[in-house]
Amino acid sequence: MIRKLSLISFLSILVPLACQAASTEQKQFAWSIVDNNAAPLAKIGDSIFYFGELGMQEFESTKLMKEVLEAAGFTVELGAAGMPTNLWARWGTGHPAVAIVSELDALPGGSQTPLEFSRKPLVAGAPGHMEGHNTHGGVAAAAAFAVKQTMQRYNIPGSVIISFGPAEEQIISRPYIVRAGYFKDLDAVIYLHIGDGFATGYGLANYASISAHFTFHGKTAHGAVDPWDAKDALDAVALMDVGVAYLRQQLHPTYRAHRVITNGGVQPNVIPDLAQAWWWVRDANMPDAKETFDKVVNIAQGAALMTGTTVEHRVIANAWPQLGMKAIAEAVQRNIEAVGMPQWSEEEQHFARGFQKSAGREVVGLKTAVTPFGARSQSYSSNDSGDVSWTVPAGLLAFPASVPGIQYHEWHAAITPTSTIAHKGMVAGAKVLAASLLDLLTEPELLQKARAEFEATTKASPYFAVLPADAKPPLDLNKATMELYRPQMRQFYLNEAPRLN
Ligand SMILES: [Zn+2]
Repeated sequence: MIRKLSLISFLSILVPLACQAASTEQKQFAWSIVDNNAAPLAKIGDSIFYFGELGMQEFESTKLMKEVLEAAGFTVELGAAGMPTNLWARWGTGHPAVAIVSELDALPGGSQTPLEFSRKPLVAGAPGHMEGHNTHGGVAAAAAFAVKQTMQRYNIPGSVIISFGPAEEQIISRPYIVRAGYFKDLDAVIYLHIGDGFATGYGLANYASISAHFTFHGKTAHGAVDPWDAKDALDAVALMDVGVAYLRQQLHPTYRAHRVITNGGVQPNVIPDLAQAWWWVRDANMPDAKETFDKVVNIAQGAALMTGTTVEHRVIANAWPQLGMKAIAEAVQRNIEAVGMPQWSEEEQHFARGFQKSAGREVVGLKTAVTPFGARSQSYSSNDSGDVSWTVPAGLLAFPASVPGIQYHEWHAAITPTSTIAHKGMVAGAKVLAASLLDLLTEPELLQKARAEFEATTKASPYFAVLPADAKPPLDLNKATMELYRPQMRQFYLNEAPRLN
């Protein structure tokens, strides 16, 4: 009896140790794959940088990713959910099925010569990567490939998936991909984004938002000769603005509402029969954002009634706040701490300090310690991957590939996404991503814990689609801009064919 007991207690120590050891070995193997692919990983990111494609026009970027992933053994589908630049890649079969969720789009006016501190666009006026979404391609591909190789070597069952959704910068595509059912059969996802630190998080990471066009139709007339015959559509836009201004006092303190007038008529002596305002309404959670949005719709109808015009509104985009699961965040954090910050050279630190100084920011250099674990504060921005995180348990990963203090969406941020700083951060990010996906694939308890947390949260606040049932993705978004600049941008394409091996 005593012998039997001690055997059991011996085994109870040995078995978890053996599991843990296997897991460490698997991760070490995956990391060696990432290290071996540091050069193609960087080349993928750099190639996408020079494509500089705006949302819905990521044709070259997704073509490259398709070629890279197919050569690496993945099955790649382009065009899912009715969007030609929507990429869905898969390796393996069945469950657990885990996915990387990210994006590849650039921003208008972001063209900039890499490593130049002064404003020097590659092509004047052209779009460019002033947030660094180009780095996502290399990190996601290298991590997924390393996971695939590890699954093959260690006979780990399941599927690894990459989803690059179009047009994240205008928070467009994920509600459509969710609506098409792509995420509903997955066990977990990890949302990947560039950052200046190495961090994960849980809880609500950002804001809910709804963006819509309000178009008023009236009747034109001469502004001086017979204005009494007119129904002024611009008056309706102005009265809608006043109505929302009066509403503001009665809203939750967390709300945000902002707008531009996208059509205000042509010239003053022609009373506009057509006018349009583009509104964005946000809040800390989607039910409150939707409640405010419905009030704004009522105000638009009131403005139409006051002016004798008619109004139609079209939801352009919406996003639920990103929801991170604590169980997954804990696993990601362990991997962040195991991988650690990249070893920056003195030259890179010197460059970063010089960059911060030239951009008028605090001169602090690059971060040398990973971000401590804790619920990250909710930001006021939005990301359409939020809808994914209300459909499947999600983890969040920001990898350290940009310079602290340099704000995204300004041209300075396009100076470093092809630098060695970005490349080193990408390698570290791919390692943590690969290790975290392996955790999800090999630890059923982790998936169960994340699922229980997800069920509890979404039971308290169930997901609902904000997109109207008949909404279609705006495929012409940014088309004219890309057609204008792409011919000049082509001369900078790297024209290389990076391959993972
Ligand atoms: Zn982004």
